[in-house]
Amino acid sequence: MLYRSTRGNCASVSSAEAIKKGLAEDGGLFVPENIIHFSNEQILKMSEQSYQERALNILEGYLDDYTLSELKDCVSQAYTAKKFESDSIAPIHKLYESVNILELWHGPTSAFKDMALQILPHFLVKALKKTGENKEIVILVATSGDTGKAALEGFKDVEGTKIIVFFPNQGVSEIQRMQMVTQEGNNTFSVAVNGNFDDAQNGVKRIFNDKDVMALMEENGYKFSSANSINWGRLVPQIVYYFSAYADMLKNKEIEIGDKINFVVPTGNFGNILAAYYAKEMGLPINKLICASNDNNVLTDFINTGIYNKNREFKKTLSPSMDILISSNLERLLYLITEGNSEMVCEWMSKLNTEGSYEVDQETKKKIQNIFWADYSNDSDTLKTIESVYLETGYVLDTHTAVAVDVYDKYVISTSDITKTVIVSTASPYKFNESVVKAILGEDAIAGKSEFELLSVLNEKSGLKIPEPLRELKDKPVLHKETCEPAKMIDKVKETLKIEA
Ligand SMILES: *Cc1c(COP(=O)(O)O)cnc(C)c1O
Repeated sequence: MLYRSTRGNCASVSSAEAIKKGLAEDGGLFVPENIIHFSNEQILKMSEQSYQERALNILEGYLDDYTLSELKDCVSQAYTAKKFESDSIAPIHKLYESVNILELWHGPTSAFKDMALQILPHFLVKALKKTGENKEIVILVATSGDTGKAALEGFKDVEGTKIIVFFPNQGVSEIQRMQMVTQEGNNTFSVAVNGNFDDAQNGVKRIFNDKDVMALMEENGYKFSSANSINWGRLVPQIVYYFSAYADMLKNKEIEIGDKINFVVPTGNFGNILAAYYAKEMGLPINKLICASNDNNVLTDFINTGIYNKNREFKKTLSPSMDILISSNLERLLYLITEGNSEMVCEWMSKLNTEGSYEVDQETKKKIQNIFWADYSNDSDTLKTIESVYLETGYVLDTHTAVAVDVYDKYVISTSDITKTVIVSTASPYKFNESVVKAILGEDAIAGKSEFELLSVLNEKSGLKIPEPLRELKDKPVLHKETCEPAKMIDKVKETLKIEA
């Protein structure tokens, strides 16, 4: 299987090259040249398989330059019961008669980024060996919270790698800060930047764009990489859990093979829902993909009008991991929907770059609307949804998942479609516990309480076990005390890697 760029201006590469490079040289995203197809018979067989076996089925088609034993190695190191609380890895929970919740937050950081970031480091290390790269890889991440911790956990003690995460000193929650400063592992570093997320992100971009720094790194035996969500190595493991959810529903006799189901996905960068689209193209019986946004509803507008317009106010919401105005992975959908029309994709992306907006043609819009349905949920509706689902069922949603549930309600009202549906749940309610407790118990219940105290409040109310890593967090020793000014991030990297300027 070879991978080509969505922009069509560079040679095709193997999956190992695509994973090592992340972004194609022409600025495009790597896409596989073919889509692997699964028959109903093969899908039925998955219902008897473990999550690891299901993952191998999907991966061996797309990463065919890896040996089966290499892939087995990646899968068995990433998806363990120890790291994901149980053997199911991504269990489904029946919420209503025709609605299941797919829980993607049983991993080490209690959010869905673990599904991809637990396995990507293993793909990457093997990719380096395969492509004859002998340098040590240094992952640089700027994070507004979730991604940084998930990357730290994923790369922890992975041979041949180091990871440096920059987080804004103001602007992450107490739990998120503690998660990063208590990070274990002999190759992990986290640094608080005196500034906001943009300062941290611009600092990392500056490092990546600095040719002198890059050359200095190479001389010292290092190579930078970013592990961000446009990497094919992050996308492909996300296809697995859509098949897995379907297989589990078959196993539970909720559906019969061939029955179509809907998926509702709380969306930011369009990575998660794009993986669902791949699953559909691969033969998984899917009716509609419902794209749920928060007040940063660029995608809602795009899917409904065909106009993508990022020229709007950026809003901080209670579902911060979806506060995004440029959904990078959408470029892959545009490429697939136009059957590989790179010229169109280039034109749209260049308009996005220069004018901040573009409009797709009628045919493309129609094709997108045949598969996708979109709406959004504001903060107040999100909190109401958490409360009402809790009162009706006792099940506690996090804010991101609540966005999806609210949008699903809107979908049913608007379409009367009663197809069995899976709502993708992207974070544990414990991860965003302040908003969740407020939604269930009211403002007074959170007054004067730390996020750590709120863990037990939520535990009493929900009966849901506090994830081990969050429960232990408060008493963990702080191992990373480094801070730096945004302008000094390069120096911090050199110091960390012990490089003389
Ligand atoms: C990253 C994230 C999302 C958005 O996923 P995309 O793949 O960027 O669309 C949703 N919820 C949570 C909790 C996340 O961390």
